[in-house]
Amino acid sequence: MSSSIQLPRDVYGTEEHQMLRDTVLEFYKTEVEPNREEWEENTACSREVWLKAGELGLLGLTLDPKYGGSGLDFSYSAVAIETFAKTGADSPGISMHSDIVIPYIEKHGSEAIKDKYLPKMCSGEWIGSLGMTEPSTGSDVQAIRTTAVDMGDHYLINGSKTFITIGYTSDFTLTACKTEHGISLIIIDANLEGFTKGKPFKKLGLKTSDTCELFFDNVKVPKENLIGEEGKGFIYMMQELPRERLTIAIQAIGAVRGGLELTTAYTQERTAFKQPICAFQNTQFKLAEVATQLEVNTAFVDKCTELLARKELTPELASMAKYATTEMQGKMLDECLQLFGGYGYMWEYPIARLVADARVSRIYGGTNEIMKLMIARAIFSDYFKEMKAKRRAMKMAQK
Ligand SMILES: Cc1cc2nc3c(=O)[nH]c(=O)nc-3n(C[C@H](O)[C@H](O)[C@H](O)COP(=O)(O)OP(=O)(O)OC[C@H]3O[C@@H](n4cnc5c(N)ncnc54)[C@H](O)[C@@H]3O)c2cc1C
Repeated sequence: MSSSIQLPRDVYGTEEHQMLRDTVLEFYKTEVEPNREEWEENTACSREVWLKAGELGLLGLTLDPKYGGSGLDFSYSAVAIETFAKTGADSPGISMHSDIVIPYIEKHGSEAIKDKYLPKMCSGEWIGSLGMTEPSTGSDVQAIRTTAVDMGDHYLINGSKTFITIGYTSDFTLTACKTEHGISLIIIDANLEGFTKGKPFKKLGLKTSDTCELFFDNVKVPKENLIGEEGKGFIYMMQELPRERLTIAIQAIGAVRGGLELTTAYTQERTAFKQPICAFQNTQFKLAEVATQLEVNTAFVDKCTELLARKELTPELASMAKYATTEMQGKMLDECLQLFGGYGYMWEYPIARLVADARVSRIYGGTNEIMKLMIARAIFSDYFKEMKAKRRAMKMAQK
């Protein structure tokens, strides 16, 4: 694809960004693609790939070097996430571990916890997952039922989580639990007695990263595994969700970029009625639409990335980014697949996998309906505040 139709993205254009892009592409070629089919059959990737990612410095890109990270700004994470997504190589679940779990621990964990977990997470020796969703509740996080009862020197944990990305492979799960004073985040090590895991689910897409259920039956967790303050877990989640949602938006951008490149190449090779498919105006118009949607969405996501780096990304802007890009991803990749004809439906064709993987992006990290709810709340925030004040005044008057 000609670069003249791509927006200049100066902030990602340094030599270091390019080196990172090359490293991710090489990692994909040598470590992921040769093993992909085997991982798909096992519905989980190998542990070796994590060690390799650690060796190449791909884990903990933004983490402080004193904990084993690279200390880079978020634009580097964005480059890695987008490049992984373009190839489909994020299937080992690296961004969950590196861009979601690590920041929770870095920002809210005690020094002892950071020293214990972060260096091993950067080397790929320990893999971390995030457990919020439960069988009975996903969108309504405050309705979780998993409990952590304070027993003096430890918490006693009971409950279950579901749909946990890399839950099966992970060595610990950063888990949202109900404690006496609200929701708290607690690290639960996988080797603790009473912690069991379900078999990885068979999924529509993302077949090389596992997703499973986790069960906690009287699991004794040391008190020092609490992240931040007890009862503040919901606030921490609300603080971290914009980054998680932006990560999903960046993945959507990468996936569509990958789809556009694959389709541009394919339509020049494939012929019908004695012409390459790209000679049909329909093909040209479809890909013009994909390229336009991609660039327009990229501009918004790049702006959000900049805001995140300045710690100014609001929940509603992150929700807009996730909502807009993932809807675009679904529609545009479907258009791309159509141009492959029957081959597009075959699993061995990367476009089929990009389409299958795309479906979940409108669901996880908060569904797109929840994204719209967040945006609408911001639109009507003054109105809701006014209504609340009126109700409070009426109650006071009745007393
Ligand atoms: C592959 C995969 C990986 C995942 N990884 C993780 C993970 O690592 N960690 C984790 O904690 N979770 C994970 N999840 C869970 C995911 O975040 C939830 O599935 C998602 O938040 C939706 O929750 P739910 O499935 O319970 O759907 P529900 O909350 O039951 O929603 C069902 C439907 O109702 C709609 N709905 C709900 N509330 C409202 C409302 N107020 N207004 C309008 N519509 C509404 C939803 O939008 C949806 O369409 C993963 C899910 C999948 C599929």
